[in-house]
Amino acid sequence: MAARITLIRVPLFARSFSAFQAKTAQYQEKSETMSSNLIPPPDVLKEPIKIPPRQLFGPGPSNMPDAVAHTQSMSLLGHLHPEFLKVMHDVRDGLKYLFQTTNDFTMCASGTGHSGMECAFLNLLERGESLLCVTTGLWGRRAESLGQRLGLQTFVVEAPQGEVVSVEEISKAIEQHKPTAMFVCIGESSTGIVQPIQGLSEACKKHNTLLIADTVSRSSNKSDIFPKKKQSYFFQVASIGAEPFKMDEWGVDCVYSATQKVLNAPPGLAPISFSKRAMDKIRNRKTKVASFYFDALELGNYWGCDGQITRYHHTAPISSVYAIRSALSIIANESLEHSWERHKTNVKLLHSLLEENGFECFVQKPENRLACLTVVKVPQGVDGKKVTASLLGKGLEIANGLGESAAKLWRIGTFGGNSDEQKIRNVVKMLKDEVQNPTNKL
Ligand SMILES: *Cc1c(COP(=O)(O)O)cnc(C)c1O
Repeated sequence: MAARITLIRVPLFARSFSAFQAKTAQYQEKSETMSSNLIPPPDVLKEPIKIPPRQLFGPGPSNMPDAVAHTQSMSLLGHLHPEFLKVMHDVRDGLKYLFQTTNDFTMCASGTGHSGMECAFLNLLERGESLLCVTTGLWGRRAESLGQRLGLQTFVVEAPQGEVVSVEEISKAIEQHKPTAMFVCIGESSTGIVQPIQGLSEACKKHNTLLIADTVSRSSNKSDIFPKKKQSYFFQVASIGAEPFKMDEWGVDCVYSATQKVLNAPPGLAPISFSKRAMDKIRNRKTKVASFYFDALELGNYWGCDGQITRYHHTAPISSVYAIRSALSIIANESLEHSWERHKTNVKLLHSLLEENGFECFVQKPENRLACLTVVKVPQGVDGKKVTASLLGKGLEIANGLGESAAKLWRIGTFGGNSDEQKIRNVVKMLKDEVQNPTNKL
């Protein structure tokens, strides 16, 4: 017995995997003799994890390049070690490049894209203030739900499925409700719809409304949409890196994004940036931000945004920060302009290949389609869900529509490294094969 205990104390890191397994068996034997009334561990955990290779052409996550995967598996550092703080500062500077901003408060919330939305709303709006949501699909409804959870008074102006809300209708709603802020999802990734907001900033200005936009998309002429203004805006950009975006030039006050789309990093961080004007609003709040975790001032201190000595805020997901450092390095080496151009060229190829093969894009006007997400109509007589299931079995993910449009649409993401001519040709070829297969007919 004494000998066994000594053995168990031998440090595991010095041992090979088989030695580790032998040790595990000993532990197991030991716990069997000792065990009495413990709930047993699940048998499946004694099997190795199985992950099939998969081409990710849905709306995210996208495929991770080897360099990012490698960086992610590097040794952990402590979350306040100087070498790790340096990595965070590198990421912060990379995000300033990505967003095209000089904002001091540029950082990541620890969480997926939604945490960026939560961080933005929590900091920029106070309980009792009002929010008008322009809803063309999922993201407007999410914003409304979050607004309600935060004790905001919410109003909705909703478009019929697959259509946009007219600028006149939105202006009328602003006139009627005079909301503190308005949320517009410009690029609706559930439908591929681009909501025009030309002329809205004027209406917002008149009623002192903050325009909050969620955009996965580019609109035709952004400088017209965002003239020099006194209002705050904030944006969600799932398309960041694929579509031109210039935070400072366009006067955007808050932008947030996610790592698993164009950046090709694993999900888990939400890049976010607040303008000076946004920070002024935050510093002059009547009430404290109702979250310590998402408090921009606390989070910003950890990311080295305020020039103060770094305090413990939370333990950053170290490996994910390494991964985004690596992803940002890839985009810095390629250059934003080249990445924007590549996504545009390749998505045009995707559209023409789809059309040549008898498919129809859901968004009619090419200038209103995203450079990194294409929504396609499921052809008549074809079972769209069977097709996606069959493709998944062959190692290729494309997504169904969302909600009401689930069976009628497919969504094809071409993010970052997946915006590639050969890969796109292969996706269209595989999709065509499935459509022609009689087992996938309705
Ligand atoms: C993908 C996406 C997000 C990301 O949200 P997660 O929490 O990372 O799933 C947010 N907004 C839009 C418009 C998106 O397309």
